[in-house]
Amino acid sequence: RLEVQNLVRSFGGQAVVDDVSFAVPAGQVACLLGPSGCGKSTTLRIVAGVDMQDSGKIFVDGRLVCDTVFRVPPERRNIGMMFQDFALFPHLSVAENVAFGLGGGAKANRGRVGDLLERVRMSRHMDSYPHALSGGEQQRVALARALAPNPRILLMDEPFSGLDERLRDGIRDETLALLKEEGTAVLLVTHEPHEAMRMADQILLMRHGRIVQRGAPYNLYNAPVDGEAAAFFSDVN
Ligand code: ATP
Ligand code: MG
Repeated sequence: RLEVQNLVRSFGGQAVVDDVSFAVPAGQVACLLGPSGCGKSTTLRIVAGVDMQDSGKIFVDGRLVCDTVFRVPPERRNIGMMFQDFALFPHLSVAENVAFGLGGGAKANRGRVGDLLERVRMSRHMDSYPHALSGGEQQRVALARALAPNPRILLMDEPFSGLDERLRDGIRDETLALLKEEGTAVLLVTHEPHEAMRMADQILLMRHGRIVQRGAPYNLYNAPVDGEAAAFFSDVN
């Protein structure tokens, strides 16, 4: 479970994350949804620990990982990350990429690596190198790599944006199925209402650094908070 309380982050006197609070229970997907520049990636980076808030607190499974005086380093937060440029390591094989965060390499972690690659349907490519894979295949390997250390929380920032539109829904569904099996709490950033509607248990609609509406996808779609939100959802079918 991820809990974020009253997060604030300013650049040059301007709050780009402005008193943001939310919680993501284990096994659920929360989507930070909103237009470009509204503060989605900044929020994610602070949760990951690669940026620092001005005020506010973050808890992982009830444990404080960050406030204004105390800070657990990113690698000790039990948080996995999968960002838009999910770049696999080009000099490592698929299996070695997935084993990267595990310590001991692909051989020592054969069980976990094999299991994950099977579940993303990439077993047959385990000895391939990233350049020989399609975008969708690389994305599936990146997902397996992010999940390999069994993080309690997975942060995803526009993870499907590099993919062909025809592939995206299939990979979204596969990703969702795998995340549900693992019981990971997921915070997914997107500016596509369709993606949020398809994947989220909870949508956090963001604008100018603030959450202006939150709830189940259906509720936001059926009862948008204002005209701007209505326009935002109007393209979803
Ligand atoms: P997009 O959908 O385009 O990725 P976003 O919602 O992820 O947008 P952020 O990257 O969080 O937006 O940026 C929010 C605002 O904060 C933007 O106006 C951006 O220019 C500003 N910003 C982000 N990082 C910095 C920084 N390091 N220094 C100054 N301004 C920043
Ligand atoms: Mg962003």
